[in-house]
Amino acid sequence: MDREKAIKAIEDLLDALGADRTSEGLKDTPRRVADAYAELLLGEGKTAEEHLSRTFNTNCGDMVVETDISFSSTCEHHLMPFFGKITIAYIPDGKVIGLSKLARTVEVYAKRLQLQERLTRQIAEEIMRCLKPKGVFVVCEAEHTCMTCRGVKKPGSKTVTYCSLGEFGKENREEVLSIIGK
Ligand code: ZN
Repeated sequence: MDREKAIKAIEDLLDALGADRTSEGLKDTPRRVADAYAELLLGEGKTAEEHLSRTFNTNCGDMVVETDISFSSTCEHHLMPFFGKITIAYIPDGKVIGLSKLARTVEVYAKRLQLQERLTRQIAEEIMRCLKPKGVFVVCEAEHTCMTCRGVKKPGSKTVTYCSLGEFGKENREEVLSIIGK
């Protein structure tokens, strides 16, 4: 990210909104907003390969399910946050990974300009690519502030997206959904 350019852009936005940039509250706002975006977009251009490459061998082929991985991301349509929880389930094919690595994978794909559908799919694809399980299933439940704070204004409404890849059958999907109460 070009920090100076971002600061200038926020200054221009405040001017366009008719705000008084010299006021006590706003004078450091362009810098603060630019630095906030730098942090919100930390995953831009990265992959989760470094997190997903440390695997452990297993001969157990039972499903692994990690539920309620919290995330927040930035909607590319409105530059506003969407946030919620992600569940990742996979069926190992000889290898498993540390559970914290799944949360780190979520971070990489959440910290960028994003769409919920794409976030869900990218996490599933990266797990398939790096860990090579028999199958993976990702469920993402999120609240979009662009919907709950403006537009139709439905506080608390959630959007749920799913992505399953490889051999992840209906029975397994139903089991995961029942674990998370869907
Ligand atoms: Zn939006």
